[in-house]
Amino acid sequence: MQKKIKDIGELGLIRKLSQAISTDKSVIKGIGDDAAVIKFTANKYLLFKTDMVVEGEHFTRKMPARLIGRKALARNISDIAAMGGIPTYAVISLGIPPLVKATFVMELFQGINEIAKKFHINIVGGDTSKASKTFISIALLGWVEKSKLVLRSTARKGDLIFVTGNLGASFKTGKHLNFTPRIKESRFLVGKYKPTAMIDISDGLVLDLHHILEASRCGAFIYEEFIPRAPKAGLHNALYDGEDYELLFTLPGTKAARLIRNLRKSRHKFPISCIGELVDKKCGLIFIDSKYRLSKLAPRGFTHF
Ligand SMILES: [Mg+2]
Repeated sequence: MQKKIKDIGELGLIRKLSQAISTDKSVIKGIGDDAAVIKFTANKYLLFKTDMVVEGEHFTRKMPARLIGRKALARNISDIAAMGGIPTYAVISLGIPPLVKATFVMELFQGINEIAKKFHINIVGGDTSKASKTFISIALLGWVEKSKLVLRSTARKGDLIFVTGNLGASFKTGKHLNFTPRIKESRFLVGKYKPTAMIDISDGLVLDLHHILEASRCGAFIYEEFIPRAPKAGLHNALYDGEDYELLFTLPGTKAARLIRNLRKSRHKFPISCIGELVDKKCGLIFIDSKYRLSKLAPRGFTHF
């Protein structure tokens, strides 16, 4: 019997597709990070990213159209933030069932426009098509100074693990619709500390940390008492709920100590927590609870299919 997509899973599908692709020397990093990294100028790389939201999967038509549009672009911006970069130009493709009201589409675009303006992104084109479900697919360009690029794959054993903001209440509070992508925070971090690895938390802390661990060939210890939980968020929500769109990053000892010292002096305008450290790959991802019990966390969180 032929395998179905649901048998392979989302990560398996991406792995299979990426094996079928080859890139030339202009591509610094292709599939496997938050955005592609491409040769650009002497001092800068281009960042290139696409992301799709689909009715019934990511949103329902009962949600405000403006926020759906906003989220569709904000998710892309969050991935540019995860690379340490600045977003610039976007093209937008829209699939629309014929009976959808025109005002819904106008409001959708209003939301896209609002967040584009806020981040100085130019919308420079797109495409529309009839479709059985509404979907929005956005491709976003950005750039980053070569010296500030942060990949998932360059963390090292001994680095400490940090996260911005707090986790776990995105769906309860509507943060998943109206979050502000962490561009400002990312630019601050790459300017002042230059993390060894970074990712935005879209699939959940555990799964996104696993993405860094796999790419960087490391294991990790994380501590329950240090995981910043949003008000009313349970531990399980903080570990596994996706769509917090905070930054998860790693720093080597001396830089980590400098950041922690500055946190204590409240020199930063946004919250950052140190949640654990990177260890040998063979340890896997170890969770230490408040009673010092250890458990191994499997790469689980949100995936499609
Ligand atoms: Mg991402």
